[in-house]
Amino acid sequence: MEMATSMAIELKAVLERKEAALLGDLKIRDGIAIEKSADQMDEIQYASERDLAIQNAHRESLVLREVRAALRRVQAGTIGICLECDEEISAKRLAVVPWASCCVHCQDALDRAAREGTATEADSFTLAD
Ligand SMILES: [Zn+2]
Repeated sequence: MEMATSMAIELKAVLERKEAALLGDLKIRDGIAIEKSADQMDEIQYASERDLAIQNAHRESLVLREVRAALRRVQAGTIGICLECDEEISAKRLAVVPWASCCVHCQDALDRAAREGTATEADSFTLAD
């Protein structure tokens, strides 16, 4: 099963914009992360900003990985097809998470499994965005 070409083209454009935006954000955060101050209070403030920046950068690089995997699926003609069950991912879900690799049912099952196993905050980020 293959999704309508027009929709694949639209998704590709959305994914490419998202990739560019993420790369831009990660670049800006790199700048924050190396900011230095001699003042100790500033240093503490910068340290917590750095921590936050690093967390955000970590989360964004995970999304970037998903976006790039989705762009490869556009090339392969399998974008919009669930990796788990081979069913079409709903247009509604793709509108919210264009890089979704599985349908909402499989994602739910994966999230549940992740929560019961070795869950991390990164496991459900595709639904949160
Ligand atoms: Zn599925």
